Amino acid sequence: MPERERSIRVEAVVLRHSDWGEADRLLVLFTKERGKARALAKGVRKMHSRKAGHLEPFTRVSLQMAQGRDLWIITQAETIESYLRIREDLVRTAYASYVMELVERFTYEDGVSTPLYQLVNETLKRVDSEADPFLAARFYEIQLLDLVGFRPQLVHCVGCRAEIMPRDQFFDAGMGGALCPDCGVKSTTSRSVSMQALKFLRHLQRSNYKEAARAQIPAGIQRELEALLQWYISYLLERNLNSPEFLQKVRRMEPDNGNYLTGK
Ligand SMILES: [Zn+2]
Repeated sequence: MPERERSIRVEAVVLRHSDWGEADRLLVLFTKERGKARALAKGVRKMHSRKAGHLEPFTRVSLQMAQGRDLWIITQAETIESYLRIREDLVRTAYASYVMELVERFTYEDGVSTPLYQLVNETLKRVDSEADPFLAARFYEIQLLDLVGFRPQLVHCVGCRAEIMPRDQFFDAGMGGALCPDCGVKSTTSRSVSMQALKFLRHLQRSNYKEAARAQIPAGIQRELEALLQWYISYLLERNLNSPEFLQKVRRMEPDNGNYLTGK
């Protein structure tokens, strides 16, 4: 086995952190160079820690890390992007938490993916800056599924291979795609999907973000898409996600929560 370097510089997004010992924090990072990694930030919970502000969740950072016995130890940290609006707005915080949760769940340590790293950062920027982060979140889900090998098949029926026609259909989580009505009624791992929702899913799958963002998605279809994708993703991960519930709670709290649903 090659000897691991003693000290490395990486660029990373902080996925989450938890308290560790008296004054330290354990960070889960998604690094550009090494995929997911865990690192210890020593003394950051002490007053006047200079590193602390750079190591909050969602922050994009440049880090110098030294090889510890079991974990990397962060020796220097500089912020590249702090995404202030994500921090100041609870709905954006909830969306960003969802982005972070999916990266953590779909990646593994030392699994490098430059396209995914790029997608995560572009998505954080959109969640920080778009009037309504809804589309950024759906685009992220579809593109992430593609990058991690679960691209849903939306053109041909995953049961009988027949071309999916423009009408209401089914979506099968177990088989990973659209089912025609004949196959759909026989499946136990499917749910119905409207023709319109399916049309937007296809649009998200084949467009770049700029093209995708032009779509005017009615509020009812937005809710259908969100529910469908989260149901499929939860199925793939074999457990429920935590952050969608957080987003639902925040939406109920916000006086103008309707804005986030309708995009107005
Ligand atoms: Zn079929």
